[in-house]
Amino acid sequence: MILHTCYEQGPIRPPSEARSLLIRPTRNCPWNKCTFCHTYKDTRFQLRTVEEIKNDIMAVREMADRIAEFSWQLGQEGHTNDAVVSFLFSSDNDHRFDDPMRHVAAWLYYGAQTVFLQDADTLIMKTDDLLEVLRYLKEKFPDISRVTSYCRSRTAGHKSVEDLRRIREAGLVRIHVGLESGSDDVLKFIRKGATAADHIEGGQRLVAAGISLCEYVMPGLGGKRWSREHAIETARVLNEINPDHIRLRTLSVRRGTALYEMMLQGEFQPIGDEEILKEIRLFIEHLDGIESRIVSDHILNLLEELEGKLPEDKEKFLGIIDRYFSMAEEDRLIFRLGRRRGIYRSLDDLSEPDTYLQLKEGVERYQREEP
Ligand code: SF4
Repeated sequence: MILHTCYEQGPIRPPSEARSLLIRPTRNCPWNKCTFCHTYKDTRFQLRTVEEIKNDIMAVREMADRIAEFSWQLGQEGHTNDAVVSFLFSSDNDHRFDDPMRHVAAWLYYGAQTVFLQDADTLIMKTDDLLEVLRYLKEKFPDISRVTSYCRSRTAGHKSVEDLRRIREAGLVRIHVGLESGSDDVLKFIRKGATAADHIEGGQRLVAAGISLCEYVMPGLGGKRWSREHAIETARVLNEINPDHIRLRTLSVRRGTALYEMMLQGEFQPIGDEEILKEIRLFIEHLDGIESRIVSDHILNLLEELEGKLPEDKEKFLGIIDRYFSMAEEDRLIFRLGRRRGIYRSLDDLSEPDTYLQLKEGVERYQREEP
């Protein structure tokens, strides 16, 4: 018997929300024009009704109760532990559970503490509707400690600090914003639909409301033409905002995006790994007077170890980048290959001899066959 559940999920969430329950108050992106973005391509933005969203939350509650019943039947006293999760994920029992049920089980397994509201711009909802959803969520899951979501800077800039404060008090305590760049030239070129001033306005309002703000920066987005300006202006904008977190997510020009076509036409000239790293160095050098945590946890970032808090770790960040550039060219190539293959996570990993030799052979083969 397949246990069907009716509950909707959107396509993405930030990496840091891997253990969060996903609830989808809106569908897709109301802007949907950024040239590097493919996530909501060919979709239409929709606000869902409060009733629909509440039905989804109710469906999750029922799934959680059902999982608790299975747990009791398995002698696990209502806990969602290894035994219960193995049972739910196994295809070797009388029931088969669909993905939403497994998602809820994984959420319960990790403590059921956090919720992420999808999709791209949740604050675009009417404040009272969003408050009603947040309160209902809390009513059905009183133990939740953190609700987070994505939002566009312009949308945040259109909410009053008072409304944002009410939203925070109702439980939405962290917002992720795709800042991408603080350079007006770059923002216009990538059709972000926001200026540097919009980013500052939206960011400052969120901070003033006490909402923990996570700003995403995209190294490489200025290409050859605006690399320097992208670094310096992005730092300037973040210095004005002082967000809790700055997350680096290096540009990848994906096939099928407008930016990919612009690259083929020669309108956008991407820069390589090492130029991007120099750009990041310049960016960090210009961050000043803020107390943000820098996180570089995206697989596309060359140096994942650029992680720490400003201002105290600034010299450490610059030292890590300088250490990379002080290495011999061959070691830099080996590191990059190791990183791109998902093997290396830090420069210290180069000291593992077997992996180093394997990657060295890989580099030599590339140089011979595809220089
Ligand atoms: S605002 Fe975000 S989700 Fe919407 S198109 Fe731009 S990058 Fe994509």
